[in-house]
Amino acid sequence: MIDGGLWHTDDPEVPSQRVMLQVREELYRRRSQFQEIAILDTVLFGRALILNNILQTAERDEFCYHEMLVHPAMLAHPAPRRVLIIGGGDGGALRRVLEHPVERVTMVEIDREVVEACREHLPAIHGNAFDDPRLDLRFEDGFAYVEARPEKFDVIIVDGPDPIGPTPGTVLFARDFYRGLADMLEDGGLVVQQTESPMLLPAQTAATHLHLRDVLPIVRTYLTHVQSYDGWWSFTVASRTTDPAAVELDVLAQRMRERGIDQCRYYSPEVHRGAFELPVFLRRYLEES
Ligand code: SAM
Repeated sequence: MIDGGLWHTDDPEVPSQRVMLQVREELYRRRSQFQEIAILDTVLFGRALILNNILQTAERDEFCYHEMLVHPAMLAHPAPRRVLIIGGGDGGALRRVLEHPVERVTMVEIDREVVEACREHLPAIHGNAFDDPRLDLRFEDGFAYVEARPEKFDVIIVDGPDPIGPTPGTVLFARDFYRGLADMLEDGGLVVQQTESPMLLPAQTAATHLHLRDVLPIVRTYLTHVQSYDGWWSFTVASRTTDPAAVELDVLAQRMRERGIDQCRYYSPEVHRGAFELPVFLRRYLEES
């Protein structure tokens, strides 16, 4: 059924569906202490990072994910100075955070080898953000880092892998993780996490929504579209005082202008507002969870 050549078959999020991508070339493959790391040059999506046989990000549509992971929370905050990223070893989220005039970004990534491989093979995704002097890069377990609550941040971004199979990222979805995240927020701070496909894994999206609701009063789930993940993708953002869904369009536009954020290909103030308007099935599902 499939023509010759090399194909990558993603491990399934649900057992009855698998995404396949035709591969031009395998650029990197290595088993680290934590996971199997591969970087493939795919025909349709360009270079892609694959961890434990699950696609994490790809050149062609990474902006649909990273702009929407980072900018809604960063622009809902009037002046984010200190930011924490947990995971995110490809550097795509880091690059977007550094577009804002932040003082320091602490990035806690468990796997040094993911960063090294991405630095070399995925410059189109990280844009050399790893060389920025504002970056404080630590190779540690994000769960242990948060448990120690070493300092507070204006924005916390959790860019971990899918909690599927044997991955070191499963702990980043555990209930105990969220109390620590809430404790580490400065006044007015926001935390945002990637929360999976609301079509394929709605229970996972709802579980994170509920865990965040246990520790913070304002919790909003919003959507983007990432074709290489096969469709809709959700993020969930939470705060004690700031509702990112309610920030006025002109305020978002003014903050973008003031911060010089003019390179977006997906995010706009209108997309920001619209992303929080959930389809009826998902809104109901989250309300009833
Ligand atoms: N965009 C991706 C997705 O949703 O498919 C996720 C990004 S991928 C770069 C996730 C990163 O989290 C990887 O670099 C991985 O090494 C890192 N990671 C996994 N478990 C972690 C942990 N416990 N602490 C910190 N980083 C972790």
